[in-house]
Amino acid sequence: MTHTDPLPYNRPDITEEEIAEVVATLRSGWLTTGPRAARLEQEFAAYTGAAHALALNSATAALHLGLEAAGVSAGDEVITTPLTFAACANVIVHLGAAPVLADVCADDLNIDPEQVERHITPRTKAVMAVHYAGQPCQMDALLDLCRRRGLFLLEDAAHATGAMYRGQMIGALGDATAFSFYATKNLTTGEGGMLTTNRPEVAERARIMTLHGMNRDAWKRYDRGGSWYYEVVAPGYKYNMPDIAAALGQVQLRRLEEMNARRAALAMRLSAALADCEPIQLPDARPEVRHVWHLYVIRIRAEALRIDRARFIEELAARGVSTSVHFIPIHYHPYYREGFGFERGSLPVTEGEYERLISLPLYPTMTEADVDRVADAVRDVAREWRR
Ligand SMILES: *Cc1c(COP(=O)(O)O)cnc(C)c1O
Repeated sequence: MTHTDPLPYNRPDITEEEIAEVVATLRSGWLTTGPRAARLEQEFAAYTGAAHALALNSATAALHLGLEAAGVSAGDEVITTPLTFAACANVIVHLGAAPVLADVCADDLNIDPEQVERHITPRTKAVMAVHYAGQPCQMDALLDLCRRRGLFLLEDAAHATGAMYRGQMIGALGDATAFSFYATKNLTTGEGGMLTTNRPEVAERARIMTLHGMNRDAWKRYDRGGSWYYEVVAPGYKYNMPDIAAALGQVQLRRLEEMNARRAALAMRLSAALADCEPIQLPDARPEVRHVWHLYVIRIRAEALRIDRARFIEELAARGVSTSVHFIPIHYHPYYREGFGFERGSLPVTEGEYERLISLPLYPTMTEADVDRVADAVRDVAREWRR
């Protein structure tokens, strides 16, 4: 890639190993959920330390199944963060429940446990906490709160595969955890996800709902002449992960620590290069976590600049650097604004920080020169438009 080619916002890290494993799957005669998905589940459970892991076709499916297994249904409320992807709120609505938004902390942009507590009502059934950018939430406070108030804690670890909180892997802390293996995530299967849990009844319910509500043990229990027999015990979904994707996931999981270490090293390099760039606030990691740097989110300081965030993004694009914004707050989307009566001004930290956020490119296949180019572009825009 020459210096004048734009730097993409993201590029997957796929080696010959992943390619060989997918080709082997294609040649094996078994494409859909089978031995490779089962092995990926075992390997992912072992990696996270969770008792159960369920391979799925997305994190959205994992979030949906996690809430369903928690018993969330019509009339319930689920508390989540406004600074997340719409899938989080959508699955709450799919179950007939209402999303309730609790503001984030200004430092790590994760849901604020005190705000969660303030939003609990007699209808609250669950809390959905998102480990934003790959940095775990304040889990001690959330776990304590959910235990005290009898709430199900579902973690959205779409950004946080491999992250740790006080030395413990994300995936074995809350009641259930959803991971994303979407194309841009730290571990990818193209499309895919995983639900982990330590609770056997959650695992059992989610497994049944993953595949049409079929009770796979039914034929064993009733012994009706072999494996052709099954029973549908609930109106389930179609959320299973095919073996083609699982093959990709098995190799990616073996490479995850190395890929995450590379992300962390590149993040440190970016932070060092931008350290004295005063109009920019840099992301930070709390000392008690292992941050896996799915996103590198800077915040522009409006008082130091003559341009807003949208213009800053355009200026970076003009310098060949593609960026993104994570996220447009849930309550800004028309469906949620109009359907749930969320008002602007009700979530001041999220609303204020949202105006300043820019996600810079950060992925393991970037070179050091790519990182320096991103830093140079940010510094150049900041210098040109400084107040
Ligand atoms: C990517 C993402 C999801 C959805 O993941 P899919 O695997 O695409 O369903 C959910 N939550 C957050 C925070 C995400 O970034």
